[in-house]
Amino acid sequence: MQKQIALVPGDGIGPDIIRETVEVLKAVGRRFRHTFCFTECLAGGIAIDRYGTALPSSTLETCQMSDAVLLGAVGGPKWDDMGGDERPEKALLGLRAGLGLFCNLRPAVLFPQLRKACTLRPEIIGDELDLMVVRELTGGIYFGERGRSAAGDSAFDTMSYTVMEIERITRMAFGIARKRKRLLHSIDKHNILETSRLWRETVKRVAREYPDVELKHMYVDNAAMQLVRNPHQFDVIVTENMFGDILSDEAAMITGSIGMLPSASLRHDNFGLYEPVHGSAPDIAGKDIANPIATILSAAMMLRYTFGMEEEAQTVERAVLQVLDAGLRTADIVTPGEEKVGTRAMGSAIAAAVAG
Ligand code: NAD
Repeated sequence: MQKQIALVPGDGIGPDIIRETVEVLKAVGRRFRHTFCFTECLAGGIAIDRYGTALPSSTLETCQMSDAVLLGAVGGPKWDDMGGDERPEKALLGLRAGLGLFCNLRPAVLFPQLRKACTLRPEIIGDELDLMVVRELTGGIYFGERGRSAAGDSAFDTMSYTVMEIERITRMAFGIARKRKRLLHSIDKHNILETSRLWRETVKRVAREYPDVELKHMYVDNAAMQLVRNPHQFDVIVTENMFGDILSDEAAMITGSIGMLPSASLRHDNFGLYEPVHGSAPDIAGKDIANPIATILSAAMMLRYTFGMEEEAQTVERAVLQVLDAGLRTADIVTPGEEKVGTRAMGSAIAAAVAG
């Protein structure tokens, strides 16, 4: 198969981790006889420096014409204090909106090899954890009408959802639950919010199309508690934009290792943008320190969700486990007695494990 991948390395450690991920994808291509063609484009601070805008139209067009997008991270102190409203993060919002990415997938996986990084007690977390948070990404309060009174002494933000927006994210979530443990938790605030009442009604109606998946409803405040009380009761969680923003960070941080967590943002046709959960880590940029695993696992999600290459995705995920089993650790996940390696060595080891 031939696939066109837009690469958006961005700022800070972005170029370091994207470089290693490309090596891994090339190894996948060689092993499974696929041709991955890469087109690199600029976004974020580096694009502000060069073109005066965080998201040049040529970058958006390249992404729109590709089969999938792989992004590093954007931002850094250099652009934090800049006057004006051109900020690196505008590239992320522009890409989500411009590419119609309404479904955000955030797996929270605790690798048995990294149990010590987990913030929960061993008897609560057990040996491993594997959750998937499905977050609606382009509706709700983040996109509703907002404003301030003329006197500036009051402000408002509006949460609104349409049935269509709820249906499409719910179908995505059921589809994913069907491929996992067939258990879906829908999170809302049905006792207070009208949007949540519409959410729950719609989710229940869509559920009739998926009788093989067990559906449970939970209030968001309870879900926040239950995630740290007994995370194993969950498998797939679906929720609206702001609840998902908060719960996906909570679920992710249970695993304790920010350098390990991938994410995907999808459209209805499974086109997607893939990026690590972490930021541009300017403190370690260009020093061969950054952990490339979050980005490499994001590429595995690209293989699975956009290209439908399940075997290839599992090969990358197994390669990561194999390298962790062999004791290789980047600085962020190393503990005494383990072998500390740099970004390049970690990337090469995973690419070699993919090659078999
Ligand atoms: P960050 O995730 O960049 O860094 C937090 C800490 O984790 C730092 O100590 C960093 O060194 C470490 N870290 C992060 N990724 C790592 C990796 N792969 N390997 C090893 N260590 C890693 O968060 P921050 O410091 O709050 O933000 C830095 C910049 O990144 C800011 O400009 C912020 O706006 C931006 N940011 C971008 C995105 C994105 O592009 N999606 C997301 C979050 C933050």
